[in-house]
Amino acid sequence: MKQIKLFDTTLRDGAQTEGISFTVEDKLKIAKLLDRLGLHYIEGGWPGSNPKDIEFFRRAKELKLRNAKMVAFGSTRRAKVKPEDDANLKAIIGSGAPTVAIFGKTWDFHVTDALKITLDENLELVEDSIRFLKKSGKEVIFDAEHFFDGYKSNPKYAVKVLKAAEKGGADILCLCDTNGGTLPSEIGKIIDEISKKVRKPLGIHAHNDSNTAVASSIIAVERGAVHVQGTVNGYGERCGNADLCSVIPILKLKLGIDCVSDEQLRSIAEISRHVAEIANLPQNAHQPFVGRSAFTHKGGIHVSAIMKHPGTYEHIKPASVGNEQRVTVSELSGISNLVYKAKTYGVDLKKETPQVKQLLERLKELELEGYQFEEGEASFELLVKKALGTYKPKFTLESFDIVTAKEGSEATKVKAKLKVKVKEGIVETEAFGDGPINALDGALRKAIESTFPEIKEVKLTDYKVRVLDSQEGTAAKVRVIVESTDAVKTWGTVGVSTNVIEASWFALLDSIEYKLMMEG
Ligand SMILES: [Zn+2]
Repeated sequence: MKQIKLFDTTLRDGAQTEGISFTVEDKLKIAKLLDRLGLHYIEGGWPGSNPKDIEFFRRAKELKLRNAKMVAFGSTRRAKVKPEDDANLKAIIGSGAPTVAIFGKTWDFHVTDALKITLDENLELVEDSIRFLKKSGKEVIFDAEHFFDGYKSNPKYAVKVLKAAEKGGADILCLCDTNGGTLPSEIGKIIDEISKKVRKPLGIHAHNDSNTAVASSIIAVERGAVHVQGTVNGYGERCGNADLCSVIPILKLKLGIDCVSDEQLRSIAEISRHVAEIANLPQNAHQPFVGRSAFTHKGGIHVSAIMKHPGTYEHIKPASVGNEQRVTVSELSGISNLVYKAKTYGVDLKKETPQVKQLLERLKELELEGYQFEEGEASFELLVKKALGTYKPKFTLESFDIVTAKEGSEATKVKAKLKVKVKEGIVETEAFGDGPINALDGALRKAIESTFPEIKEVKLTDYKVRVLDSQEGTAAKVRVIVESTDAVKTWGTVGVSTNVIEASWFALLDSIEYKLMMEG
């Protein structure tokens, strides 16, 4: 079976992403995750360029990686300096990393216009920089910068550079689509041509400027490359690098290349989320394989089909990449979604159940009003169970009254008065709070806590208000999402109204009722 080595550059190229700034601590955490995922190489940074990367390499030695080799990145020596006197090469060796990725120019115009040296001088410095690193006992990956653009403009020279690297003793010749402008078909064709001209194994480093970095990496492998560079979540400069969270599942599940173990592959969705968390960027819900919506079904026909056979609308088993199938309830959804959802709530709803049609109608009305249950699934569950008669409200609201008062520069005071009807009769309470929702919550708890002590366990952990578009001069509506927890379970509830307090009340009420429902 074909052997492919996976090379991660999240900590070097990925760190160039706008909005990302990794601390040394962050980088060490990510390196551990990458090792768990089974990557073969982790490029830790450029020790010649900044002290933070030197610090990283020093501390990375304590990581005790099980799978990955640490890689130091750097450039070929400067012109007119001997390799052993070159500060950058010395820093690479000083990093202690067993493997080195060294980049050199392969595009003639970059040599003459950016480096401002002759084409022959560039060949020399590629060759002797690599020879020097090899003599120091390093495994050397040569990153042929701008290789595809260089090859298209001057194929003879680009190949000469690869041959110089080969002569110097490079272990891998990694062809870089640095500007990300080469299409996969061209990448495939060029790799075919290059394989006939050099002997050393080829690698691919693709950028995503044409949104084809993953495709380019895959075609490179199909045409013989044995080393793939990329980043977690496709992080990287401009439009990013090839996303390893797609590359790895494709190699393993579609091309049958055993680059990581089954167990490692199952950790990829979690690692993708975890790295996003460390990077402090939201994970793209629609990211293939690992995103939250990657196996989410919304259309009714789709849901009806996946219930019969998941393969009808899923290209792989979500569990193989540690992801899961989800079905959302929305206005697009039909009876099948409803039946499926109800099942996850332990309600055996049959398509023929008489209440199903009514429930679906009600759901459509609510969605028209602005309800959305993706984040308020507990409200949806209550709705279903109330409609089926399997849950009956244990108290009802008679009235509430809220007074907000401010005097001079003092903090605003809010008092909520509440009347609810429980089995024993009407209960009246009042409570103060720092805001109306807080005061209402306090008053409600006072009213029913003695009858239902379990609500003491409920804490509201998040409260979100979203203003919905107003139509034709009507007042704007708000949708409130409340997240609650009882330390065992977390649930979301939703309320919609033109009045933010009323919307909040609906969400709050559902939250408390949901707890009572769970307790039976
Ligand atoms: Zn790059």
